[in-house]
Amino acid sequence: MSAGVNVLQPGDCHAFESAGQRFLYLAPSAAVMAVDEVTAAVLDSVALRSRSSEEIMADLAERFPAEAVGESLDELVKVRALRRIDAPARRPPVVLPLTPVPLSTMVLNVTNQCNLSCSYCYEYGEDKIVQTDNGRQPKMMSEETARDSVDFLLRESGPEAHMTFFGGETLLNFRVLKTTVKYATEQAAAMGKTIDFSMTTNATLLTPEIIEFLAEHRFGVTISMDGPPDLQNKFRVFHNGAGSYDMMAPKVKALIATHRSRPIGARVTLTRETLDVRRIYEHLTNELGFWEVGFAPVTASPDRPHAFGDAGFEQVLDEFRSLAQDYLAAALEGRHHGFSNVRETLGEIHKGASKAWPCGAGFGLLGVSTAGDVALCHRFAGSDDHKLGTVTAGIDRTRQSEFLDTHHVSNKTDCQTCWARPLCAGGCYHEAHTRFGTTNQPNLHYCDWIRGWTDTCLQIYGQIAQLNPAFLQQFEDDHEAPQPS
Ligand code: SF4
Ligand code: SF4
Repeated sequence: MSAGVNVLQPGDCHAFESAGQRFLYLAPSAAVMAVDEVTAAVLDSVALRSRSSEEIMADLAERFPAEAVGESLDELVKVRALRRIDAPARRPPVVLPLTPVPLSTMVLNVTNQCNLSCSYCYEYGEDKIVQTDNGRQPKMMSEETARDSVDFLLRESGPEAHMTFFGGETLLNFRVLKTTVKYATEQAAAMGKTIDFSMTTNATLLTPEIIEFLAEHRFGVTISMDGPPDLQNKFRVFHNGAGSYDMMAPKVKALIATHRSRPIGARVTLTRETLDVRRIYEHLTNELGFWEVGFAPVTASPDRPHAFGDAGFEQVLDEFRSLAQDYLAAALEGRHHGFSNVRETLGEIHKGASKAWPCGAGFGLLGVSTAGDVALCHRFAGSDDHKLGTVTAGIDRTRQSEFLDTHHVSNKTDCQTCWARPLCAGGCYHEAHTRFGTTNQPNLHYCDWIRGWTDTCLQIYGQIAQLNPAFLQQFEDDHEAPQPS
């Protein structure tokens, strides 16, 4: 054992167990480390109270050779799974990219209007950030602004660019979407770049012509949908209050039957009144044929009737854990399971993701408003407070650097001691803005939920890694662009 290591306590890591094997998730490196018998004994000896290395060595002397215990102690201190009680708290430096990060995904809000009137929608009601009724943000993006946006994306991107169409209801402006795809395809080819397209829609305006178009252009399509009729119709209603299920379900089926070149996913907004994850999942996959389903708790101020309180987040976690067991069973048999929240987190764990910022918003991913303002992401598009430039004038680099600096995880004091920070980094800016009125506040209201869910995914990862490691191969060459949520 090295000299100078005195009294030790558990460090910057999270211990978990899978299929009888103990692991550590090491926050400083975002690595998963299998724990052998000696290391497990060392960890156990400091679990209940801080102990000196000499005490630990003495405790374990009868069970293990001193050299093995010493090596284990050295290793645990090196990876910061153990720390001296007198060690000063480390605050990793804020490291900003030296050159501008290429823009990977541009989310184009082609309209801020919607033919539905979902009562929980962040675009409307008291939680809305963007003023769309002051005339400064047109209801529909023009062809010219869309073309300027394409030029902006291709200027700012690397060899691969991703363009996502969003709304309001995206298909209300299908005319501009269609001409933009043509222009973007031609321009990308002329510049020797590849570009792909995706969109989010509520599906109610799909027609055979639109479905053909989406299939022909290999669109990635995400449908916003909340489940079977009773759940879908609770919040996802037309302006006259009528439910949208009967209108959209046949269109979704037609889309899935025709558009075979890319899997179609559903995105479900969970509220405290529609929290039936398994039933929703089974309906959307078995009855409607979705390949994947992703769930997100509604973003709302805590006083909204559909918002989650602490108990609600616990319930979400229970529901997620139950469905995640089905994912695990399928993975161990090498079968597909469409619970995308698990797949996404497993992919991040496998790749050792260690985030300085919670998502790509503000650098790899930008949102563009109907007027051509560039913002952090689609949810802020059109908000002056979150504007980073325009598609014609480009990105205000000073403002972008300030944003990246102030929002870096190293500047979030509470997150510095949290083992889940490599995957969370403080959580969604829009959620924070809605809850606390500012984007740079970490989402401390849902830490238990984030840590609980990350622990579940780590356990699943550990089981798959031991019992069917070939399943993890899919994450090796999966270079996903940041996507809007
Ligand atoms: S928001 Fe909470 S869970 Fe996320 S990194 Fe910060 S302290 Fe951890
Ligand atoms: S996680 Fe939040 S801030 Fe990031 S892209 Fe999604 S909505 Fe925007």
